[in-house]
Amino acid sequence: MDLLRKEKFHLPEGVIYLDGNSLGPMPKDVPLAVNSMIENEWATHLIKGWNECAWMDQPKRVGNKIAKLLGAPDGSIIMGDTLSIKVFQALDAALSLRSDRKVILSDNGNFPSDLYMAEGLIRLKSAGYELRTVPPEDVANSINADVAAVMLTEVDYRTGRRHDVQSITEKAHSEGCVMIWDLAHSAGALEVNLEGSNCEFAIGCTYKYLNGGPGAPAFIYVRPDLIEQIQPALSGWLGHHSPFAFELSYRPGEAIERMRVGTPPVIQLAALEKALDLWSDVDMQELRDMSLKLSRIFIEGVEARCPSLELISPRNNHERGSQVSFGFENGYAAMQAIIARGVIGDFRAPNVMRFGFTPLYIDETDVKKAVDTIDDVINNRLWDHPNFLRQNRVT
Ligand SMILES: *Cc1c(COP(=O)(O)O)cnc(C)c1O
Repeated sequence: MDLLRKEKFHLPEGVIYLDGNSLGPMPKDVPLAVNSMIENEWATHLIKGWNECAWMDQPKRVGNKIAKLLGAPDGSIIMGDTLSIKVFQALDAALSLRSDRKVILSDNGNFPSDLYMAEGLIRLKSAGYELRTVPPEDVANSINADVAAVMLTEVDYRTGRRHDVQSITEKAHSEGCVMIWDLAHSAGALEVNLEGSNCEFAIGCTYKYLNGGPGAPAFIYVRPDLIEQIQPALSGWLGHHSPFAFELSYRPGEAIERMRVGTPPVIQLAALEKALDLWSDVDMQELRDMSLKLSRIFIEGVEARCPSLELISPRNNHERGSQVSFGFENGYAAMQAIIARGVIGDFRAPNVMRFGFTPLYIDETDVKKAVDTIDDVINNRLWDHPNFLRQNRVT
């Protein structure tokens, strides 16, 4: 099958969607699958659905589908909660593996929630723990024997800058640190090889490039040789060895099951599971090549025609994820004006206009049309209008 499969997505007429890096569009097969879950499973089976419809197995079953996309073995990934919660779980587990060390190392381009969760975890721990954030380019040189865990997001949500997973993981291991990768902007965007990277933990969300829908559950990967040592901080009943024994004390569940917390979001998982069908025949190398090609056309077009926009993303393909960001003083208003003309990207403070490239439903023609629209908005100052200057709650 062709990589491009626009007909599989619901894309409103006249819209060029360059925001799949923030919320992927809806695959057309999802409503039927969700409706079927609700009407044929929930409505009919009621409480029996947990057994009769295998709802309880869903977090692991869907985790195995994600594992295939990320080069991870079966049984090493489980779904649930949101990414922020998975950050907390991975980080606590990582610290427990290096209890003689007290530093969490991250970079100051990381998504704030990852850093906030680290701060919150540190407040719960005994004194002496520290979150150390350095500029992204200084991470490798800041890894040393003080560091318990290196926690990084592979692709920077704001700039699209990409860390070198392999070399950073190797450096972390050479200094005896535990490595956690956040794959929020990697899963479904580029080739990931978790087993090959040898990192201890990985986490990510599924509503961005994987099109699981708003609020779709997150995933957590734990390297299989470590899972039996992990005593989960969030020791909820569904991560218990025998939830229905209702024992008074927590005992961790089998392998990756222990990273579950509470009742799985069955309806959201049904949507995600259906959305993942779209990936069964995708060659990630081919997808990556196309994403880079589209990004290059975009960068060249915008730079040639809108000199007032400054490329913030790395120019070198290898150092960039699947998004391109431009800085522009009136970026918020400009993005509103671009969106009003059907090209949907988004804005990140203070001045960043972001555009995501998703080869399953975006082609060269779309990218060229998007460049035309941006050219029109910027060079004709179409953004300079009161309608576009008022800031919404979600940007
Ligand atoms: C999108 C994103 C999040 C969002 O976390 P949620 O808990 O799912 O809201 C967290 N971290 C990174 C790096 C992200 O890109």
